Amino acid sequence: MKVFYSPCQSVPEVDSYSPSAGKPEKVVAQWLELWPEHISLVEPVPVTPQQLALAHDHAYVNDILECRRHNGFGNLSRKVAESLPWTTGSLVSATQYVIEHGGAACSPTSGFHHARYDKCGGFCTFNGLMVAAQLARPKVERVGILDCDFHYGNGTDDIIAHLRLRFVEHCTTGRIGGPKDPEAFLEELPTILSGMNPHLLIYQAGADAHNDDPLGGWMSAQQMRRRDQIVFRFCRQNNVPVVWNLAGGYQEDFQKVLDLHHATMEECLTAFSEDSGSE
Ligand SMILES: [Zn+2]
Repeated sequence: MKVFYSPCQSVPEVDSYSPSAGKPEKVVAQWLELWPEHISLVEPVPVTPQQLALAHDHAYVNDILECRRHNGFGNLSRKVAESLPWTTGSLVSATQYVIEHGGAACSPTSGFHHARYDKCGGFCTFNGLMVAAQLARPKVERVGILDCDFHYGNGTDDIIAHLRLRFVEHCTTGRIGGPKDPEAFLEELPTILSGMNPHLLIYQAGADAHNDDPLGGWMSAQQMRRRDQIVFRFCRQNNVPVVWNLAGGYQEDFQKVLDLHHATMEECLTAFSEDSGSE
């Protein structure tokens, strides 16, 4: 499994409630220990300001990159600003890889879906999901974004509406009002996926969907595993290239958040192992 990671996308020392800026480094280190044979790191290509402006207002992009405007963490940190082209770049590089080669790839990133056309929010500055979708557009007729973070992907909806994009099918489980019945959702998920009928799926495998999460919670770890399994099996069986990322996760015991991401990786490795395609 290719994981698109550069140390440039991790900022361990950000002072924020959200651990997401430092998460890539930690999760990747543990994956290399857990699955040394199956994980290979690929250096992503950072996105340019012009590429970010495919989903955002030009002035907003420049203000953020030049630290004239608060980022999604609510500060003017230069280190955060410097990491942002790499974070979105990781998702874009992983997306371009699966478009070309099929299968699955991972971008160990968070902090995308609350970023609107010209406004950040909720630890999100640039909407890498929408930048990746825009850059996939010349090669992919229909892009599905399945956002299973606990929270509403309001930034994604805002950009789709602002730019009147019709090629993106966006499903966010946190849509206003919030998700409720996990069993009903898991039962419906295959139908949701076939309804989206994506030629490429971008999957936010949010860990704040867990019941113990202080900012989220509606699923058990087992239900989250089934969620991931359904998504990855659907993609494998229907030859839909899939790229996934980490999204939220705020449990105080950070290892519990990492364990949820590990479960997603495990389900992905299982679904896309050599012999599981012949079922
Ligand atoms: Zn969230």
